Amino acid sequence: MIACQNEDTALLENSELNTKTEDMKRQGQNSFEAYPQQKGILKKAFLNGEEISYEEINNELVYQGDIILNPDMLSTVKGNSTERTGIRGEQYRWKNKRVYYSINPDLPAKQRVIDAIAHVEANTDIRFIERTTQTNYIYFNKGQGCSSYIGKQGGKQNITLNITCSTGAAIHEIGHALGLFHEQSRLDRNGFLTIKWNNIEDGYQHNFKTWQTLGYNGFDLGDNLDFNSIMLYGPYSFSKNGRPTITKKDGSLYNSNYSQLSQGDITTIAFMYRNE
Ligand SMILES: [Zn+2]
Repeated sequence: MIACQNEDTALLENSELNTKTEDMKRQGQNSFEAYPQQKGILKKAFLNGEEISYEEINNELVYQGDIILNPDMLSTVKGNSTERTGIRGEQYRWKNKRVYYSINPDLPAKQRVIDAIAHVEANTDIRFIERTTQTNYIYFNKGQGCSSYIGKQGGKQNITLNITCSTGAAIHEIGHALGLFHEQSRLDRNGFLTIKWNNIEDGYQHNFKTWQTLGYNGFDLGDNLDFNSIMLYGPYSFSKNGRPTITKKDGSLYNSNYSQLSQGDITTIAFMYRNE
């Protein structure tokens, strides 16, 4: 792993964030990572006209720890796209609120997927249908870490779940596949959170970004950051020293919800799919 300090510093100036930590994972809390214990090759590219940093690990482009980027979305030049439509785009939605899926027969503990799907269906209008011949579908795959793409990609797209990924982790990754970003990626998050940069594990600072940096626009529904969102990382995420990497503005910690969609998550999904 080549970690460029200059790049980290530049990102610090952006005052952006995201989080997680191996410690949290060991504690059984959600700190979802595509490739835990692995740091890939730090790279930069442009997405929707915005420069982003990501890691290349095992031929996958890993962003913010557990988000897999589609290489087709990236460019080596800035281009002129400042539209910031990103995740708002129709192409990222599952048509008619129907998500087709299949499960790797070798995936351990398939019940996690079944339970996660049941939870999402019980709380949203999204319906999951086992894929037969459909082109666009989620493939719940075994592998390292827990990871997902953001929104519908077109074609087969993996949600990867290793054995440590809980039902809650599966719900979180399904949230990504439906189009949700991390809650701490809200543009207004600095009004609610403080990032403790000095406590973040070296080489992970580049994960601390908002969706704006990715070039996406708008799901900051409401005027508050939802501390109960299943898409929010815990206060010790990516900690290198056992101290919090995220606190509330008053310095206090918060309880992370890693088990179910919050009311805010449910509202946001309904918003994204209101026209589908
Ligand atoms: Zn995530």
